[in-house]
Amino acid sequence: MIDDIENLPPLRDIINNYKVRAKKSLGQNFLLDLNLTAKIANIAGDLTNLNIIEIGAGPGGLSRAILLNGAKKLYAVEKDSRCIKALTDLKQVSNGKMAIIEGDALKLDLNKIVPTPKAIIANLPYNIATVLLLKWLKRVSEFEHMTLMFQKEVALRICAKPNSKAYGRLSVMAQWLCDVKLVFDIPAEAFTPPPKVTSSVVHLSPKENIVDNQINFEKMEKLLATAFGQRRKMLRKSLKPLFLDKTESILKQVGIKPTSRAEDLSVGDYVRLCNLE
Ligand code: SAM
Repeated sequence: MIDDIENLPPLRDIINNYKVRAKKSLGQNFLLDLNLTAKIANIAGDLTNLNIIEIGAGPGGLSRAILLNGAKKLYAVEKDSRCIKALTDLKQVSNGKMAIIEGDALKLDLNKIVPTPKAIIANLPYNIATVLLLKWLKRVSEFEHMTLMFQKEVALRICAKPNSKAYGRLSVMAQWLCDVKLVFDIPAEAFTPPPKVTSSVVHLSPKENIVDNQINFEKMEKLLATAFGQRRKMLRKSLKPLFLDKTESILKQVGIKPTSRAEDLSVGDYVRLCNLE
């Protein structure tokens, strides 16, 4: 199989042959350098027992690397019908190890489509990347891990620590449920066409014994929206819409100074606040 994939035409020919002119509305910035796609797939580790979901497979550069890395099966999701033709050529040499799912990743229920154990590897369309991440975090226990490319500014927010400008809702949601690591950057020139910004690959592994809990997830989202919605204000004021006249006493009860601001709190502080009835 490896020979068959390596004998496929170069990706640049594929996008020319199938006339896949990149569309901005679909966040299409393709990675055509197979050394880079191999580097991303390697971050995900041993794939031999894993069903891999790739969101936005495009012309299939990263898909090739995932298959070459020995994935048990690759489920390549793509919305653009022009790319589906290109992916079909790859599927034909995949020895039955690839399924193509034409559809909108925002609407798909991956749980129903892809058997466990599963992991996600993707160079995400940037316009919907954070929405997708939050969707997956809501049911994070379904995934062994996620290796995802974001624009660097978003990657920095996902991995940010308290008392920094980048620390916010996305940092707490991601670090509450996963161990996160910004692994490496990819410069804009590596993509076709080049985006305006640098990109970064982030690896997220769900914390051990994590149990999905939709009610808690929504509670945490509301708490973070309230706290960070007015991040310059002290929490005794910004959290009033949630805890009313009990705000100060509740903050003290969980060991948080009422004069702190949203970015002073650790992920653990938010978890304690969220767990209060
Ligand atoms: N994986 C390819 C690569 O690395 O070269 C393409 C990555 S490109 C940044 C993002 C891909 O996501 C595009 O192929 C685009 O058509 C696809 N896409 C955009 N919105 C999508 C959606 N809602 N559902 C599924 N795929 C989508």
